Amino acid sequence: MAYKKFQANQLFTGKTLLDSSCVLITDEHGVIQDIVPEKEAGSDVQQLEGILSPGLFNCHCHLELSHMKGHIPPGGGLTSFIAAVMQTPPASFEEREIHMRQADTEMYNNGIVAVGDISNNTTSIQTKSKSRICWYNFLEVTNLDDHKAEEKMKDFLTMEAACNETIPPPVQSAIVPHASYSVSPATFRLINEYTQGKTITIHNQESAGEDELFTNGTGPFLSFYRGIGRSSLPIAVSGKSSLQTWLPYFTKEQTILLVHNTCTREEDIIYANGYAKNNGLTLYYCLCPHANLYIENRLPPVDLLLKHECNIVLGTDSYGSNHQLSMAGEMSVLLQHFPSLSPAQVLQWTTSNSSAALQLQHEKGSFEKGKKPGVVLIQNDFSASKRLV
Ligand SMILES: [Zn+2]
Repeated sequence: MAYKKFQANQLFTGKTLLDSSCVLITDEHGVIQDIVPEKEAGSDVQQLEGILSPGLFNCHCHLELSHMKGHIPPGGGLTSFIAAVMQTPPASFEEREIHMRQADTEMYNNGIVAVGDISNNTTSIQTKSKSRICWYNFLEVTNLDDHKAEEKMKDFLTMEAACNETIPPPVQSAIVPHASYSVSPATFRLINEYTQGKTITIHNQESAGEDELFTNGTGPFLSFYRGIGRSSLPIAVSGKSSLQTWLPYFTKEQTILLVHNTCTREEDIIYANGYAKNNGLTLYYCLCPHANLYIENRLPPVDLLLKHECNIVLGTDSYGSNHQLSMAGEMSVLLQHFPSLSPAQVLQWTTSNSSAALQLQHEKGSFEKGKKPGVVLIQNDFSASKRLV
């Protein structure tokens, strides 16, 4: 059997960062054989500059929006961003397909092996069916009207079947809510019924206006709703934060990726972690720092999440709010802004934590014997990454 052997400045196993004396050995197909000291590795060891890591995970992307690169100016805030996405003239199917394929190739080449991808329709299915990346399809429901919830759910069940039939294994799909401000109570209850034990996701507390809406019924969402033709408030004011309003809809042992959390406060984290523990849920806080800087020009409360021992994963969000789809880029911006973070922490977030979040830990996320996680070389300064295997 032909072996591949790699040695670099550091080697991240998925849990710990080892020094340059260790050699990673895979078979010709990329199945992990061992990590050995260099004196036991024999000949033909590839010498590399950088950090060797298991394949990276992008836990939040919108492949469907790949054609929007550079369309929306940064810094406008969330409600303006959503309005701009809705008002962007529709691109042709061919144009969208070209940009989705380019995004897929970019992610593959920079070492992303699995993506948690938001889909609002079936336009990305063809690209995904030919992709070498594993896809977890989050089929995202937006519906403010309780009386339309059953009908919406039927459409999304059809979409889920189409994804699972067309995209090669290990494809997984789940019907998910877009956000607390865009999903009605009956819709939340149906999504809960259909997602027992699955990994699901929701955009959470991406702007201060989201909490203001649920707490007081005021703020920038009022003009947003008027802009989409709603003359009266289409959500019920709960007197609580957004997170404390939507989380109790979930009761069926789901794993939930809370995406963004830019405005999440300590009392929300304490509430959410307590609710999850008492109700059999598992929470992952998914951070998309480049997108947060792009849209709201602020970053999530990383120190608070660490203080409360939260599970963290990372995502790029879409080309609507990012200049690149690179996990090295997301890790780099966090390391720059939060000096207390270590490279091993952010690497764990994009590998083993994420593989557990997307239920791919049996195959990916760490250099354990028998797994085929992909092998990635990350520049020592996290400026770039590339796939080796
Ligand atoms: Zn998003």
